[in-house]
Amino acid sequence: MIASTWSFAERCNEAAWPALAAGGDPMDAVVEACRVAEEDPSIDSVGFGGLPDADGAVTVDACVMRSPASCGGVCAMRRHLHAARVARLVMERTSHHLIAGDAADRFAERHGVEARELVAPAAREAWERWRAGGGDGEASRQVRDRALRPEDRGPGSGGALFGAHAAGESRWRHHDTIGTIAIGSDGRMAGACSTSGVPYKLPGRVGDSPIVGHGLYVDPAAGAATATGTGELISSACGAFLAVECMRRGASPLEAAHEAVARIAAVRAIEPHHQAVIVAVAPDGRVAAAALRQGFLLAVRTPAGARLEPPGATVRDD
Ligand code: ASP
Repeated sequence: MIASTWSFAERCNEAAWPALAAGGDPMDAVVEACRVAEEDPSIDSVGFGGLPDADGAVTVDACVMRSPASCGGVCAMRRHLHAARVARLVMERTSHHLIAGDAADRFAERHGVEARELVAPAAREAWERWRAGGGDGEASRQVRDRALRPEDRGPGSGGALFGAHAAGESRWRHHDTIGTIAIGSDGRMAGACSTSGVPYKLPGRVGDSPIVGHGLYVDPAAGAATATGTGELISSACGAFLAVECMRRGASPLEAAHEAVARIAAVRAIEPHHQAVIVAVAPDGRVAAAALRQGFLLAVRTPAGARLEPPGATVRDD
């Protein structure tokens, strides 16, 4: 099985599925799912097409994980699109867990990954409009809502900058990070999480997504979890780690995801633009998501087919 955040990930899952179903390595599957999202200019919070930081640069973060002994990440890369692939190189070719900034780009180059332009024309235009509207990095948490003009809104239920998204899903102001977890036919687990972070962020800001335990945690002995939403909230509770620890002590994936999101809501003041979603997967393939609010869809692919499902639990009704 493979489960990935947001409805756009249906196509990411499909790209990864044939090799996974044929007995492939679940790490290949999650990196492939991220590759599809990273290349898609219509996904405005991952890779090419991601909205820039306050200075107009797109920076990307990712991590991958097989187990507590096998993980890797990169953050604040500016020249390499396939952040999950580079995170895997960190996991496989170094003794480190996280490489940051220009050094991460240089690491990618040294390992034969080609540099790519990360700023898509539409993302550049959106940033220019944001700047023209008085955009200010210091206030990016507040102003990012204003950056969505009515004409930018797609026909979906939320504020899509580019086109429609599935009924029942709001984009929560560009929380499109892909978090993906796969289990192979031999029972091995792997996860990956890839993002360009929150739009118009302060340059240098890194969220939960590339941090093991925050945006992603995989321990085949207990389960796996990944997160999307406001990174600062998710990090407040080590969201992914917390969900896996709940499963370790016997919680179902839904109970575990719900407990992690409820903890976030208990320890942080929640603002109207916030969203936080935790997806939890048990080693036997049971999967569930919990969210701060409705508006999220989980894309799941199993031998029985593809499905999109809303969170099994939300902690707020607004
Ligand atoms: N969690 C990501 C971050 O804070 C953003 C997202 O999920 O949209 O960087």
